[in-house]
Amino acid sequence: MKTSSARLSGLGTTIFAEMSARALRTGAINLGQGFPDTDGPAEVVEVAVDALRSGRNQYAPGTGVPQLRHAVAAHQKRFYGLDLDPDSEVAVTTGATEAIAAALLGLVDPGDEVIVLEPYYDSYVAVIQMAGGVRRPVTLRAPDFRLPLDELRAAVSPRTTTILLNSPHNPTGTVLRRDELDAIAAVAIEHDLVVISDEVYEHLTFDGIPHLPIATLPGMAGRTLTISSGGKSFSFTGWKIGWATGPAALVQAMLGAKQFMTYTSGSPLQPAIAHALGADDAYFDDFRARLQAQRDLLCAGLADLGFGVHVPEGTYFATTDITPLGFDDGVEFCRALPERAGVVAIPHQVFYDDVAAGRPLVRWAFCKQPSVIEEALDRLKALHP
Ligand code: PMP
Ligand code: GLN
Repeated sequence: MKTSSARLSGLGTTIFAEMSARALRTGAINLGQGFPDTDGPAEVVEVAVDALRSGRNQYAPGTGVPQLRHAVAAHQKRFYGLDLDPDSEVAVTTGATEAIAAALLGLVDPGDEVIVLEPYYDSYVAVIQMAGGVRRPVTLRAPDFRLPLDELRAAVSPRTTTILLNSPHNPTGTVLRRDELDAIAAVAIEHDLVVISDEVYEHLTFDGIPHLPIATLPGMAGRTLTISSGGKSFSFTGWKIGWATGPAALVQAMLGAKQFMTYTSGSPLQPAIAHALGADDAYFDDFRARLQAQRDLLCAGLADLGFGVHVPEGTYFATTDITPLGFDDGVEFCRALPERAGVVAIPHQVFYDDVAAGRPLVRWAFCKQPSVIEEALDRLKALHP
């Protein structure tokens, strides 16, 4: 009996499932998988409840309910000045995860090379492999995790078709700057590449650092498929309402695969996320400020414990070097941490081809209530017996 396809070979179980299971088994505080421990706005939940009670429970259109497509287009205009046709240049997906998968399956042929930033989000590697593509990582290296522009240029080959970007970047917290985005845009234009840009943390940047969608750069709107989701911006990660925006041809390619994966995405949650996208500026500012305070609490506490801390510019995550505490292997460290200290974290190493670059690095989520972060920091004192 054949029990697995070659397409899944070597992919194993995602680190997020492994580490969340360890947290449940041991009762450890889960600073691993990135999800908030507080719900998003109650009024957004009310819109979902109204939709559930008012019969919006059958299939949505394949591209998503018009209300949400219009809200996504209005959001891209409001925050970034991007003009999108809500009927042909916006499509709703089951989380950003499905948008990423459908985009890669719809755009990448066997043998095509896809440039990815390393450390990479694990689903990128899995889906590039499922599509038969070849990943070409460009490594963001400690301690500053900036994009090495020469390595980016050197990663292009005659077989490259796509650059898969992620900014704000999980797990390093790097927010790509204008000069880095300019360099990526120049490479994409020179080699006629598609850019798939995962911007799920678009509203989670700190210290006044702006998020710049690469689609706003000259010459890029016509070759960029931008992906986001309501999960991070509104603290509803379990709703899995995402979207892709960009030129009609790229949206169509994504939908070409999506129609045979889920066909359509959850109807009653879509009007609620449409409502959320219209939140006033104060919502986004407060949310960012709260997360920034949680970042600062966690980073200061980890530094006090002796970790080498990289303070992130965005996302839910802080990265630490564990070597100052006498450890050298993040995977071993994270597997032992629940028993040793009652906390779960994520090793960077599993997000690299260049395993040595990620080996001493560990990621900690700070999208948790301050009291939970404080309790986790207190437990981590057990690392100093
Ligand atoms: N991309 C990145 C970089 C992420 O961190 C996440 C969070 N899981 C996703 C995509 C997936 O988003 P969603 O939950 O909307 O599928
Ligand atoms: N994006 C989140 C993280 O990186 C959640 C992971 C997931 O759900 N696959 O932790």
